[in-house]
Parts: sequence; structure tokens; C-alpha cells
Amino acid sequence: MVQFKKEEKEKVDFRDRLATIDESGKRIWVYAKKPKGKITTWRNIVGFALMAFFFVTPLIRIHGQPLLLLNFIERRIVIFGVQFWPQDFHLFFLAMISLMVFIILFTVTYGRLFCGWACPQTVFMELVFRRIEYWIEGDAYHQKQLVKQPWNTSKVFRKLLKHFFFFIIAFIVGNYFLMYIIGSDAWIKLISESPADHIAGLAGMVVFSGIFYFIFSWFREQVCTIVCPYGRLQGVLLDRNSIVISYDYKAGEPRGTFFKGEDRGTAGKGHCINCTQCVQVCPTGIDIRNGTQLECINCACCIDACNAMMDATGQPRGLIRYASEKMIAERLKMKFSARTVAYSAVLVILLGVVTYSLLSRKSIEATILRAPGMLFQETEPGKISNLYNIKLVNKTDQDLPVEIRLLSHKGEIKIIGNDIVVPKESVGESVFFTILEKDQVKSDKTELQFGIFSNNKLIEKKTVSFVGPNNP
Ligand code: SF4
Ligand code: SF4
Repeated sequence: MVQFKKEEKEKVDFRDRLATIDESGKRIWVYAKKPKGKITTWRNIVGFALMAFFFVTPLIRIHGQPLLLLNFIERRIVIFGVQFWPQDFHLFFLAMISLMVFIILFTVTYGRLFCGWACPQTVFMELVFRRIEYWIEGDAYHQKQLVKQPWNTSKVFRKLLKHFFFFIIAFIVGNYFLMYIIGSDAWIKLISESPADHIAGLAGMVVFSGIFYFIFSWFREQVCTIVCPYGRLQGVLLDRNSIVISYDYKAGEPRGTFFKGEDRGTAGKGHCINCTQCVQVCPTGIDIRNGTQLECINCACCIDACNAMMDATGQPRGLIRYASEKMIAERLKMKFSARTVAYSAVLVILLGVVTYSLLSRKSIEATILRAPGMLFQETEPGKISNLYNIKLVNKTDQDLPVEIRLLSHKGEIKIIGNDIVVPKESVGESVFFTILEKDQVKSDKTELQFGIFSNNKLIEKKTVSFVGPNNP
């Protein structure tokens, strides 16, 4: 058996377990120090803007439709006020495929930028729940002290107060989450009508609130490490060229304590003063100096912490920074490689294609088929008629009058029954005759083109065959 010295053994053992699990498999609770700095300020601005979006979106209506509704249960999807129907599945499929390609290319190029800046888990954890914790229990040091101290009135009060706020906010987030699924109107009914009529909705409310409370009060960074599929994929998506939060070991090592007035170069030391500030602020409990790790959510708190230490010791900033492994290893300056530019171009094209597909989606879809079992009829001398069924899907929020016109031939259209009006968000059907002069029918099958008009606006063209006698 190979024997290792203590330091060598630590290196070998390093990735055998998560940073937040001890040797016996017990959770190591992370007490992250309050971060501050330029990037943290920008992250807070972005985070608060995203939170505002999250809370306002379910209340916004566009032509009566919610801005965003993801009711997968009733198959009702509304994105930016546009409702998607089962007939739009191809668009949904395209959007999903594009999203997957987008995620892969984006991650390969820019690492976990999304996790650190825009993931709801990070945004709510760092901007809301951890702030409440700092406010009630103090910074990391005081939190640790509070845990160690025996239960007394002050400790009980602080813990209860913290969890009370946690639950209230988890309840609010859970309810908003529910609103994204059932819509704000249904949610208002849920809270204003008899609970007996809304058992499923109320159960959803309790379950979502409970899940969010559990996640933010206890599970925390474990979501990113253990549960999140995106986090688990990082190992295969990142490569040497991916831009992640990196420690510049070339400049930082050998690390060593800082003594005022010393020349670190002459003393044989790198820029890292081994102050562990980067570790103390890390919300996932890792030491970025060990390299890119599964747990790192790219929150950039360690960049701010390290930059503050570099300022304090009069050394250049950027010992921890956004950079790829290649940039660090080859001491390259931050620049966008040909691959980064190419991938970014593909991302922009993908976004363009999906946006165009969504915007050019038809508000009415029509299907015209000849009535089954019917050939043709000679209604009056010199005229031939065919019977057609038309099915219309109105995807708008207004009732739409529909008119069918013959575009390719001169002929007559006779609707059987009333004029066609398709109610909003519904499917309408009708039957009509198309009558042509005999001289218009050149063979037993003539291709006709119909135009579907609503309020005099051409919405769709349909080509259907017209059956006539063998020798007209
Ligand atoms: S290592 Fe740095 S960027 Fe990664 S999670 Fe920790 S503090 Fe955030
Ligand atoms: S904050 Fe910077 S100087 Fe301090 S230990 Fe981390 S990398 Fe080294």
C-alpha cells in the first residue's frame, strides 16, 4: 500500500467528498461572511431587478393575457402575452431545443455566469434570506457564536424571529410560484373563495411554501451542488477555455503571510497572503485556490474579498478573477477567443430564430378538407360544386369573424349556416360549398387556393383539391 505524508494525503483525498460534508458524512454548515465590493454591488442591482420582475410579472396583463403563464397541467402556456396552443408544439419544441443548445454553448463559453448572477436560488438566498440572517444573527462570526452558546431567551428569540421571517418570505415566494402556474386570477379565487372548492390549489400553496422554506432555511447551497441538474452538468460542459472564477496560481503562489514593508518577490512569495478571506465569504464553503470546483456557483464574492486584500497590501487586483484555465496557465490577458466569438454569434442567431418564430406565429390556424364521402355535384347546368369542412383555431383573446375567399379561380363560396365567427381562444368549425363554372375545371382534380380573411386582412392561404368529372 502506498504511504502518503500528511500534506500529500490531503491532496489525494481532496475531491473524495463535497466541501460541506465531513469525513463521517455529516453536513458542515457554511457560515459565509457578508460580501462587499464592486461586483457584489452590481450583482445586487441585477438581483433586485430580477426579483422585481419575478414579483411583477404575474400581475401584468397584455390584451387580457398574463405576461407569463406556465400551466403545464392544463397545457396553457403564455409567453409575453402570447398563448401557445397544442398546434404550436413545433414552436415549443424549437424553443426547447434552442434553449438546450443555448445553455450548452453559453456554459462552455461563460461558465456558470447564470448561477452567480441570475439563478433564483442564488438571488433569493443571497439577497433576501442571508440578509435576514445577517440582520438578526449578525455576520458569520456572530452566527457561529450563537450556535455554540447555550439556549437562552436571546437565542430562542433570534432563532424564532429568523425562522418566522423565513417562513413568511417562503410563503410569499411559494404563492408567486403558484401564480406562475395557475395565473393570478385563479390565485385570487383560491384565496377568496371557500377552501373546500380549492383543495388542490391550497395543497399546492402549502407544498410550495414548505419546499421553499426547507430550501432556504436548511438545504441552501446543497441545492446547487446535489440537486440542480445544471450544476451537475458543469463537469462535462466546462473546459480549459471556459471563462470561470479562477485563482491565478501563477501570480499567487507560493502563498505566504504578509508583513508590512516586505518585498514579496525577494521573500520568494506570491501575491496570495493566505488571509482566507476568499474562503470565508464563499457561500458554498470552498477554497477557490484549489481550482475550479463542482460547488463553485461563480458568485464572485471571492473576487471582491481578494481585491480588498490586494488593495490593503498594495498589490495588483485580480488574483481571483474571471478567466479561463488557459488564460491563467499561459498568462494570457482576458480576450475573447475565436471560439467564444463563434459561440456567441450562434447564441445570438438562435435567439433571433426563436424570437422570429414566436413573433411570426399565426393568430388563426385553418384546416380545410373536402367533406369525406362526397365527390362533386352539378348544382345547376354548367356549374360544379364541392363540399368542404373548415376547422379554425383562434389563438387570440378576441372573437374573430372569418371570411373565406377563392384566390386562384373565379368561383363562388357558400357557407352553410351563419357567417363564421370563431370565439376567442377557441376552435370553430363550419362547412361550405365551392362552386366553379365548368370551364374552370380542367381535370378531375383541380388545385384551388383559398384565402382566410379576418376583418379584411389575409391571415392564411390554403391549397385544397377540387374534384370534377373525368372529362369536363
Ligand atoms: S469560490 Fe468564489 S465564486 Fe465560487 S462560490 Fe465560492 S465565493 Fe463564489
Ligand atoms: S483572499 Fe486573496 S490573498 Fe487572501 S487567501 Fe484568498 S486568494 Fe489569497
